[in-house]
Amino acid sequence: IVIAAICLLVLIVLALLLRQRRCENPVAELERALKAGEFIPYYQPIVDITNGKLHGAEVLMRWRKKDGTIIPPAAFIPLAESSGLIIEMTRSMMRTVIAEMGDAYAARPKVKIGFNMTAQHFDRETIVRDLRAIFERSPIRYSQIILEVTERQPLENLSRTRRVVATLQDLGVRVAIDDVGTGHGGLSYMLKLGADIIKIDKMFVDALATESHSSTIIETLVDLADSMRMDIIAEGVETFEQVIALRERGIRSAQGYVFAPPLPASSFLQLMDAIDPR
Ligand code: C2E
Ligand code: CA
Ligand code: CA
Ligand code: CA
Repeated sequence: IVIAAICLLVLIVLALLLRQRRCENPVAELERALKAGEFIPYYQPIVDITNGKLHGAEVLMRWRKKDGTIIPPAAFIPLAESSGLIIEMTRSMMRTVIAEMGDAYAARPKVKIGFNMTAQHFDRETIVRDLRAIFERSPIRYSQIILEVTERQPLENLSRTRRVVATLQDLGVRVAIDDVGTGHGGLSYMLKLGADIIKIDKMFVDALATESHSSTIIETLVDLADSMRMDIIAEGVETFEQVIALRERGIRSAQGYVFAPPLPASSFLQLMDAIDPR
């Protein structure tokens, strides 16, 4: 009995130690949170500033802890990317978006939904397979989907990514280059991808009113986009002055706190019903 009791005790201590180690291991904690469905989409409206209509939304991931705390992506995306978990997190979030937004998007075929894709997910054929598996029979059409790939992360293989982009475009999906002007990608590199949309970073929008230098950059991007038949979305727009300045420069679409912050699904659905009734 004594020996059995000691064995039991040892087992319990070992189990406790193991459990503690798992909690201390941040990657294991991400895995646990993924299984528990704690990574959820928020939706930031994108507005057509020429007519005030809803252009679409960008999906921005949040970590909602059991106690209701909302953690922003800066606190967990870097680890999710370095551990590779981001790929499964993105798939899971896309399924949640379909569950939450399927009906609303089916009723508004012109409204777009943008997803942030990590480079390691985007520059492989898996993105095409994933997209088919997730959206093939979903109420959200391929033509409503925008995939954003950031210029900040280097792409491993440009010609392979170029093929991936072309395959996605054949499906009707559109590809956006995110954070244009802030990365090391460089303009030519960026253009070689054959993307459909460029997203102008908040940095340039901020400087628009004050630095003539920045408005020259934006004007150059607009000219370039026009000649390449690419669309532009301006990010981080916080004031009406900026909205006016962007419109004067021929930019149609914008997102930012001046319109709305990223919203939980229920608020975004309410907003859609209010400004774009089906
Ligand atoms: P991003 O793709 O450049 O997203 C825009 C960020 O700017 C978002 O921050 C958004 O909340 C914020 N923002 C929007 N409007 C304004 C504004 O008017 N003023 C200011 N100051 N900020 C504004 P958030 O949600 O914290 O996301 C940060 C970054 O995390 C994103 O930058 C993106 O790179 C990454 N991220 C978010 N969700 C995902 C995801 O699902 N997958 C991946 N791979 N990355 C994600
Ligand atoms: Ca983005
Ligand atoms: Ca961005
Ligand atoms: Ca940005």
